[in-house]
Amino acid sequence: MTFRLTCPVCGKRDVYEFTFGGQDRGPRPAQEGLSAEEHFRWVQFRMIPGGWEGGEGGGVREGDRAAPQEEWWYHGQGCGVWFRTTRDPGTNREVEGGGGG
Ligand SMILES: [Zn+2]
Repeated sequence: MTFRLTCPVCGKRDVYEFTFGGQDRGPRPAQEGLSAEEHFRWVQFRMIPGGWEGGEGGGVREGDRAAPQEEWWYHGQGCGVWFRTTRDPGTNREVEGGGGG
């Protein structure tokens, strides 16, 4: 399966030009009052193409539809910049500003 990503410099390009940099998990949670489970989730639970890395069963469970997520991508075969985009892992489509399309 292929899809296109929008590089902020080069525009829409085939995904094969990019390297997946992982899900943007936001800032590291504060250590104080952080439960082991919360820490585990922050460290371990991130989406990889095709499913949840570190998730139980190693895949997306039925009915457990993944929501659009912020991801880091590297345009290695292009301009060489890192950028963040919002992508729906279910459709592999970029989501722009939460609008329809
Ligand atoms: Zn680029």
